[in-house]
Amino acid sequence: MRIEHALLASSPKSPSIMSMAPETKPQSKLTTDKDGVQQERRVVRASQCHAGGQGGYTDVMVALGITQSREAQGLSLLYAKFNKDKSEREKAIERLAQHAIKQAPKLVGKAAGRQMARCMVLLSKLAVDDFCRTADIERARCRCGGSGKVYDIAATKAGGKAVEKTCSRCHGTGLKPTTTAPAYKVVKGLLPDLSQPTWNRNWQRFYQMLISKCYQDAEAAERVLSRVTSN
Ligand SMILES: [Zn+2]
Repeated sequence: MRIEHALLASSPKSPSIMSMAPETKPQSKLTTDKDGVQQERRVVRASQCHAGGQGGYTDVMVALGITQSREAQGLSLLYAKFNKDKSEREKAIERLAQHAIKQAPKLVGKAAGRQMARCMVLLSKLAVDDFCRTADIERARCRCGGSGKVYDIAATKAGGKAVEKTCSRCHGTGLKPTTTAPAYKVVKGLLPDLSQPTWNRNWQRFYQMLISKCYQDAEAAERVLSRVTSN
């Protein structure tokens, strides 16, 4: 079972679940565009989970309970990303900040001084939000429109019909590549003496590591969930 479907099935508050009821299904052209279609497909699968049988509602809740006990951070991150769950986002930020305080390089701690805790919370917030970006958010979309695909002009010309290839800017994720510039700006707000070279040398990599940690934790949670739902 894909984790998003389990998450949707377990969250009756989710707006996607609300739109499952046929009478509330929007009839606008939104449902016919690409994102709309994707959204609808997810909802259908969630409703199949809900209907019982393999991956029934109770099974989903049990599987999520096990995942929660083993990979709480990863599960919070997935709820924050796919269900846009605000309280799980807060929990994920808090746990990541605790990890950051423990793991920060000495030079980072030295530069941050008494602002250390605040700096780590801010970086964790930005890292979690970076992880939570999805291509259905307009400002997060790559120039390929969030599809992760572009026309292969040469192949299209040669073959006489439209050929697509993976977008080289986003490598198929559909997301705009990000820089660490906003994180530097935020930390500099707290530590006015922090220079760009110092950021580049001591902070940047640490910040990128916090983002990677989010991906690793989320993958670990997905692995547990797929193991417990596979039999
Ligand atoms: Zn792209």
